[in-house]
Amino acid sequence: MSFRVTATEGAARAGVLQTAHGEVPTPAFMPVGTKATVKTLHPEEVREAGASILLGNTYHLHFRPGDELIAEAGGLHRFMGWDGAILTDSGGYQVFSLRDTILEADDEGVTFRSVYDGSPARFTPESVARIQANLGSDVAMCLDVCPPAGVPRQELEDAVRRTTLWARRQREAPRAPGQLVFGITQGASDPELRRRSLEEITGLDFDGYALGGLSVGEPRDLTLEATAWAAPLLPEVKPRYFMGIGDAAGILEVIERGIDMFDCVLPTRTARTGSALTWEGRLNMRNARFARDERPLDERCGCPACDRFSRAYIRHLVNQQELLGIRLLTLHNLRFVLDVTAGARDAIENGRLASFKAESLERLGTLENSKKNAWNR
Ligand SMILES: [Zn+2]
Repeated sequence: MSFRVTATEGAARAGVLQTAHGEVPTPAFMPVGTKATVKTLHPEEVREAGASILLGNTYHLHFRPGDELIAEAGGLHRFMGWDGAILTDSGGYQVFSLRDTILEADDEGVTFRSVYDGSPARFTPESVARIQANLGSDVAMCLDVCPPAGVPRQELEDAVRRTTLWARRQREAPRAPGQLVFGITQGASDPELRRRSLEEITGLDFDGYALGGLSVGEPRDLTLEATAWAAPLLPEVKPRYFMGIGDAAGILEVIERGIDMFDCVLPTRTARTGSALTWEGRLNMRNARFARDERPLDERCGCPACDRFSRAYIRHLVNQQELLGIRLLTLHNLRFVLDVTAGARDAIENGRLASFKAESLERLGTLENSKKNAWNR
């Protein structure tokens, strides 16, 4: 068994995912290392921030530097110097979110223009399985069709149908030794279509399952409502992955509803815009109010930024576009999100998730505060 649940509280679970590159305690936040790097950080720093699994992007690595080159270099772990677990997405999200680059989509696969040089490329379930086998990730994701929020029902239904068709084919494709493969369910928050997708995909018996197409721009209430009824329909003994959530409040909400894994560019991208995620909410470090602020970014944080540097100094670095400013904010933001996740795990193990969540949301200045920033993936 590659996954075991070690504690539960209501629908929430703590567990351990066993991968070819070590154990991943869940709930687990996966920092995004799009181009074989978590931007600005050394892998040791990512590890010390508390991460045990990273997300790599099939789409980008396929084009630059090329998955075959990475295979020749000994696989993605060795190439990027990360010996922890790696989950690779299928590239489907990139293809379907860059809608004007799509040339043709049919039941066989999808043809699109590469964002790198505009040349036509094609993804099929078989080709994304091959790319992920070349990368040698610990968890490979199925190619899915992920429509944006608010598309006509017929388009949603087609996405569900094609996602199942592709999952069935990808399941039979060769994989890297020890590689787990997760299926993705679609159907947005449409009860009938999501249920259909859940039934069809879980019927194929994957190593884990994702709720896809649920943080693509729809109101958060809908997302959470759908997660609440959809997550329990996934097999209890398999890990459940919510694709694309990374703000503290959102993380706590999906954990409470039975989600084990999640990813988001929010902490790292926010850092590069000069903002810090803290228990006081999001701080824009460019602001003049921090000019003489001798406090760390967050009093409760033990990251290398908060350990040594003041808000005043980080504000100065950010305003002068000094690289260290972005690095320190990235270190801090990752640590913050990973700490929230680890805190939730600890709370589940001790049967106090409900109070941990209530206290956390109160400290975060209510859910409203974080809602504004919820959807940056
Ligand atoms: Zn910090």
